[in-house]
Amino acid sequence: MASANPFILCDNLVKIYKVIDHDVVALQGLDLVVEQGELMGIVGVSGSGKSTLLNILGGLDRSSAGRVWVDNKDLLQLTNLAMDHYRLNTVGFVWQQNSRNLVPFLTARKNIEMPMILVGEGIKNRRKRADELLESVGLTERRNNRLSELSGGEQQRVAIAIALANQPRLLLADEPTGEVDETTAQTIYDIFRNLTRQYRLTTLIVSHDPNLAHHVDRVIAIRDGKIASETIRQPGTNGNQDGVSSQNQDAGVQEFQELTVLDSVGRMQVPKNYLEKFNIGGRVLLEVTDEGILIRPVPEADQSWDADVLVKTLMQSKKKSRLQKLVGRWFGGMHGRHDI
Ligand code: ADP
Ligand code: MG
Repeated sequence: MASANPFILCDNLVKIYKVIDHDVVALQGLDLVVEQGELMGIVGVSGSGKSTLLNILGGLDRSSAGRVWVDNKDLLQLTNLAMDHYRLNTVGFVWQQNSRNLVPFLTARKNIEMPMILVGEGIKNRRKRADELLESVGLTERRNNRLSELSGGEQQRVAIAIALANQPRLLLADEPTGEVDETTAQTIYDIFRNLTRQYRLTTLIVSHDPNLAHHVDRVIAIRDGKIASETIRQPGTNGNQDGVSSQNQDAGVQEFQELTVLDSVGRMQVPKNYLEKFNIGGRVLLEVTDEGILIRPVPEADQSWDADVLVKTLMQSKKKSRLQKLVGRWFGGMHGRHDI
C-alpha cells in the first residue's frame, strides 16, 4: 500500500543526454514510488535506462525534467553543495566493477574507513563502525587483508560495507552480482536482505539475474526509459520474506506475478511478444468486456483508413457533407482543382 510520503518518488522523470548531433532520451516519463524499508530489484535490457535512474537517485546526475524526491529531499532543487552532502550521507553506492568501489592496496578495514574520513569521523568511531560492518558482511576474519588478497565475491562484500560506512538510508547497487558466480551471488543477495532489515535501509538492486524476484520484495522492469511491469510475490505464497535463503525454493510458475504498469496518464507498454502474437501494431481496438479491457488488432480493411483513402471515399460519395466540402477545399487549394 503506497503511503502518503514515500521514501522515493519519481514523477514523470525525463533524462536527455545531449550527444554531438542528436539527443538520447534515456528516461522518458518514468514514475516510481518506493516505500522506506523496501528491498527492490530493477531489471531491463542493456540501454533501457537502469543506470541512468540509479545515478539520478544517487545524486550523481540530474534529471532533465520531472520530479524526484528521496528522503524528503527534492533532488532537482538541491544546490551542488547540498548534493555533495546528500551523496556522502544519504546514499551508499555499489558498482559492478570493484575498481570503482575499492582501493586495492589498503586493507578491507581501511577501505571501509575511507568514506568516514571524508566526513571527519574520529578514529575510534571509524574502527567500531568498520568492524561492525565487516561482521555484517561476514568478513571479520579478513579485515586486515589487502583488497588484492580477497576473492571477487569478498571484494564485493567489502564494497557493500564501504557503501554503508556513513550510515546511509538508501543503498543503490548497479549489477553487483554481474562478475561473480551463482553461489556467490546468492550470498550477496542474502547480505543485501539482511543489511536492509538490520539498518532499516531502502535498497535498489539492478541485476540481469532472471531469479532476482526470489531475492527481493518486488522487481520492476524498465523498458525504453519507463517502468513497464512489476513482478510481485503472489499473496499467500511462501517466499523468503523472513530472510531464509531461497536456493532450495521451487521456482514455481504461480509464485510470482508480473503486472503491467500504467503511468499517471494511463499509458502502458504491452510486451512485444504479445503484440507480435496477435499481429498488433499502430492502432488497436479497445473493447470493454465484463472481465476487463480487451485489446484487439484492427482488421486489415480498417487499417487502410488512411488520410488519402478517406479523402477519396469522401469525394466519391454523392452526399456533400461538411467534411467532404472541407476536404475538397484543401485538395483544390493544394492542386488547383476541386474534383478528384
Ligand atoms: P542501462 O543501465 O539500462 O544499460 P543506461 O541508463 O546506461 O542503460 O543508458 C540508457 C540510454 O542512455 C542508452 O541509450 C545509453 O546509450 C544512453 N546514455 C547513458 N549514459 C549516457 C551519456 N553519458 N551520454 C550519452 N548517452 C548516454
Ligand atoms: Mg547500466
